[in-house]
Amino acid sequence: LIRLDQVTKRFGDNTVLDHLDFCVKPGRHVTLIGPSGSGKTTILRLLMTLTKPDEGTITVDGQRLFPATEKQVREVRKKIGMVFQQFNLFPNMSVLRNITEAPVSVLGLSKDEAEERARELLDLVGLADKCDAKPSRLSGGQQQRVAIARALAMRPQVLLLDEVTSALDPELVAGVLDVLRDIARTTDITMLCVTHEMNFARDISDQVLMFDSGRVIESGPPEKIFSSPEQERTREFLSAVL
Ligand code: ATP
Repeated sequence: LIRLDQVTKRFGDNTVLDHLDFCVKPGRHVTLIGPSGSGKTTILRLLMTLTKPDEGTITVDGQRLFPATEKQVREVRKKIGMVFQQFNLFPNMSVLRNITEAPVSVLGLSKDEAEERARELLDLVGLADKCDAKPSRLSGGQQQRVAIARALAMRPQVLLLDEVTSALDPELVAGVLDVLRDIARTTDITMLCVTHEMNFARDISDQVLMFDSGRVIESGPPEKIFSSPEQERTREFLSAVL
């Protein structure tokens, strides 16, 4: 579903991704781990076409990005939902409206259809009673769960998760991760996550990719990466974060 071939991205002299190859098959849950600055977020930004590669090719569901027409980019973007570290909800809209806005304006759903779906999703993320609240009245964890519901409302094939719990108070992290575990278990959505939550990565991933300096230095199922990593660099990283 997602394929990167020899992707290189530089910011000035800083080579952030260095001839990177990897692919994510439909329905798989892939987690990117590695030290800060190793290029993980940049990959998600490339997939969202928020930034361009200097070299290499990226394809999503058979459609090549860079180059692609605006229409092709729009079609690809519809297939991808992203949840950011900062929840980025629309502050002046109710929770329900935050979720129905894009399905109505982008997918052309009727207001009733969109609201029905939004209520189901709010139920899924444990916030059925918050439909009418403004985001500012919610905790960070609740806001992040609304952001997850909002991403799912577009029925994406792929969910990109960029350190979705990093901005949360520690006691709110578990609730958000439980929602994501549920989604991983009960839907066939493809997930690509950047996370520093190693237990979460271990629980939901089919595959873990360890990044260092813009390259994947090791990859495999979570049991292997967390229990018997081959690379010294992976061992060092894990002993620092676990
Ligand atoms: P973290 O875990 O801290 O989010 P990361 O692995 O996700 O790290 P990236 O955010 O992808 O790392 O950043 C990789 C490198 O690219 C960093 O050195 C960062 O400073 C640099 N970088 C990212 N975006 C830009 C930008 N817009 N302009 C210049 N440099 C950038």
